[in-house]
Amino acid sequence: MKFAVLASSSAGNATFVEGGGAKLLVDAGTNCKTLSAALAPLGVALADLDAVLLTHEHHDHVSSLAVLERRCGTPLYATAGTFEGCEQDRGGGGACEGWDCRCFEPGEPFEVGGLRVEPFSTPHDAADPVGFVLDDGSARLGLATDLGFATELVARRLRGCAALALEFNHDLRMLETSARPPSLIQRIRGRNGHLSNDQGAELLAAVAGSGLRHVVPMHLSGECNEPALAVAAARDALRAAGLDPGLVRRPAFPTPLLEI
Ligand SMILES: [Zn+2]
Ligand SMILES: [Zn+2]
Repeated sequence: MKFAVLASSSAGNATFVEGGGAKLLVDAGTNCKTLSAALAPLGVALADLDAVLLTHEHHDHVSSLAVLERRCGTPLYATAGTFEGCEQDRGGGGACEGWDCRCFEPGEPFEVGGLRVEPFSTPHDAADPVGFVLDDGSARLGLATDLGFATELVARRLRGCAALALEFNHDLRMLETSARPPSLIQRIRGRNGHLSNDQGAELLAAVAGSGLRHVVPMHLSGECNEPALAVAAARDALRAAGLDPGLVRRPAFPTPLLEI
């Protein structure tokens, strides 16, 4: 299996995955021009995609759906709650009209081509948000962003993955001393908000195993985090687990195509 994180931040999210003969996109929160430009060096066009999967309906994950539908015409997979939530982003480009919409339930795996998709629930302030494990029969990729804390279920699902793309959203001190309104700070650090560097590192330490090949810190806040802080937290976690800290990539997007 191969994957490349094309964009990951509060401004826009999209990850390309290829495995089991299928090419798919997880989230479509960055504009089509950026998506095409990030896929081109991988030799992939939007029309080559076999599916788009959504984690949840927040604007930074769905904003290019309306335009993307005309460019790739693939099935769109999401929970019923996410499809309903997308309607609220209609004016922002998140409308699902025209898509071949296919509902899945968290906890119920399904196949896209030869790729097994395992969606699992995440605690986040969206209608029915999920993370994914993608499995081509020989390796597993775990994707978990936009969660307020790591539940037992999340940790259980992510164990044994060869690649982990995990949220390292904010540095708690930078968030708390930021100029953001107290209500927003509370939302971000709440149980349905986003993982801090420390929380991301704690999750990583809990799930990292000897088969791990790549760790990508994801969804960094532009205002309340520094890439070096997220990387240091992730590397410390691997070191403490007796694993190679060099497995952690710098969160610079798009990443190259990473193989597992
Ligand atoms: Zn997000
Ligand atoms: Zn979100």
